[in-house]
Amino acid sequence: MKTILNSLILVLFFSGTYAQTQAIKNPYYSRTDTKKLKVSNAEWKKILPPDLYAVAREAATERAFTGKYWDSETKGTYYCRVCGNILFKSDAKFASTCGWPSFFEPIGKNNTVYKEDNSLGMERTEVLCGRCGSHLGHIFDDGPAPTHKRYCMNSISLDFEPDGPGK
Ligand code: FE
Repeated sequence: MKTILNSLILVLFFSGTYAQTQAIKNPYYSRTDTKKLKVSNAEWKKILPPDLYAVAREAATERAFTGKYWDSETKGTYYCRVCGNILFKSDAKFASTCGWPSFFEPIGKNNTVYKEDNSLGMERTEVLCGRCGSHLGHIFDDGPAPTHKRYCMNSISLDFEPDGPGK
């Protein structure tokens, strides 16, 4: 029993260290630097965890209702998980039935950029991070007032910071 416990402690210790290494390994992540990034996919591949790389750099889509934020109602700010660029406030988030976190507007005009996407036989508009160009999701015209837009984002592409006390 003691050996099992010791192994468990060892595993927990190493997974903690691993998570920490992952978090500090990305030299491009900044919530204050707004300078546009030009980083190759080869470089991102070395830095990002595989599931984030697949969505952010290869435009994969996480399975609906599986992400961390699709039904989150916590007040706070959403950043790009690849580069730290500020993207959305929870004030613009609405309860969406589609299974992905949905917003009616980004925090500012230049925080997100758009690209026509005709893949999978659909005419869609892709939403990318304005700083690092990573894929975030798609935008649709069936959102609520005031914009009637639905920014349908992948949870994995987002990094959330809850509001502090007093906010
Ligand atoms: Fe970014």
